[in-house]
Amino acid sequence: VQVVKQLHKILFFDWEEIDNCYTFSIILKSLLEFLSERSPLESFPLNRAVVDLLFGMQEQLQNAVFKNEKFEKEDIFTIFEDSLEGEFMAFSGMPLKGLQVLGLLETRSLSFDNVIIMDVNESVLPKLRLYEPLIPRDIMAQLGLNLLEREEEIQRYYFKRLISSAKNVHLIYREGGDRQRSRFVEEIIWNQQKEGNSLDTLPISTISFKVEVLPDKREIKKEKNVLDYLKNLSYSASSLDTYLNCSLKFYYKYVLRLDENESELDEPEAVDVGNFVHEFLNEIFEELRNTKFSISNEFRNHFSSLLDKRFDECFKKRMDAGAFILKEVVNHRMNRFLDEEEKRESEVKEILGLEKQCNMKLELNGETFRFNGKIDRIDLLEDDTILVLDYKTGNAKKMTVKTVVSDNSEMTRDSITRIMKSLQLPLYLHFIRNEFRNKKLDAGLYLLKEPKLVKLFGNKEPVEQGIFDKVMELSARAIEHIICKEILNPDVPFSPDTKNSRFCEYCPFTLLCR
Ligand code: SF4
Repeated sequence: VQVVKQLHKILFFDWEEIDNCYTFSIILKSLLEFLSERSPLESFPLNRAVVDLLFGMQEQLQNAVFKNEKFEKEDIFTIFEDSLEGEFMAFSGMPLKGLQVLGLLETRSLSFDNVIIMDVNESVLPKLRLYEPLIPRDIMAQLGLNLLEREEEIQRYYFKRLISSAKNVHLIYREGGDRQRSRFVEEIIWNQQKEGNSLDTLPISTISFKVEVLPDKREIKKEKNVLDYLKNLSYSASSLDTYLNCSLKFYYKYVLRLDENESELDEPEAVDVGNFVHEFLNEIFEELRNTKFSISNEFRNHFSSLLDKRFDECFKKRMDAGAFILKEVVNHRMNRFLDEEEKRESEVKEILGLEKQCNMKLELNGETFRFNGKIDRIDLLEDDTILVLDYKTGNAKKMTVKTVVSDNSEMTRDSITRIMKSLQLPLYLHFIRNEFRNKKLDAGLYLLKEPKLVKLFGNKEPVEQGIFDKVMELSARAIEHIICKEILNPDVPFSPDTKNSRFCEYCPFTLLCR
């Protein structure tokens, strides 16, 4: 217990109250001393070099002129992280023999027979500081201070000089995900292709590593306090769908409330683009709300200029060299979406609601449960049908009504996942059912990638009341089963579900359940 207490103090507690660099440096010093004395850290030569470097930084902070200035804790960490990022650690070696591990700038004036360059990827080589905290990049450019361009030229020079003086060169880069090979590699390939007048002038060997997520059989038992919490939880379509896909993920996300750590300065990810598109469509369609639905030329022009403006406001700071492609893609998809909307002019009478916040209570198994959700858009159609819409920027699972009404399997989590796929649209219909009691209701996913509107009850025929009622009844039973027989069942632990490997691949909790 003493050891745990001491570790807690040195790793967490001591850091709570820091408000200037002096206190930070003293706490850092005691942590480094503790690690040096009480851990095998010093047995590894490289560790020693790192600790020496950290002691050096600690001393600088302890004696800095601003050491007693008050800062927010987060800012002190940022200052430290930023200066740590600028530190270099040399791997010393014998210059005439064996393998030398060098940084690019350390290779100046040196030549080698064999050169292997690792990580020849964008944002590593060239490594450019896109975000300049003191003087914004636009102002620098206006003043004629093209530091980025100069920095890139310097790195390009060292890179080219090094590889031109070597007999054998291996350039190693990673591809896939958000990784792109360096513009320096692209230049080499492009020059070779021009010279050889062919696309296959440079042999590129590919080495791939198959990475599989291996969740263990980790299961989380439901304690009484967790069950009490779950009884009072307000359920949403995404929490229910998450449970259908993996109950352990539901536990991490909706019980422990863990979330991904995101920074405003990170590269935009799919989820950021999705949020951006949702917010933009909400803003632009607000102007058409409660008027005759029409996509005029004037509206189109306004749509494009607002999209441009909002995109720059949202992503400009975070953009790297490839972001203009993202802008092109978003523009292209949004314009195609607008074409699709224009085709719906004769079908849609008006837009009744946007980002409508919904709350309701449902009686399930003798108990009352709360539900909440936000409906992207509600349209009133010319035939008086109310159509609930959910925009999807990524892939979406959609239930097929025919399969749902014709299936007689016993209700289990597996059968609900397999047959209903997602409870989102039925839940949305439950939300608005009372408000639009005398109207026909339908719901649809607007797949913005394609773009295509896929309605729950089919795109052509009018909604049949009998089928509608059956879907409502089955979905209510499915929701009841998931909450009462699964989520609130103390005998059903939260456990990893690895049937769908793609789901695990993109799950932010992969590391937790390994
Ligand atoms: S990684 Fe897979 S098994 Fe683990 S929580 Fe995520 S979805 Fe579930």
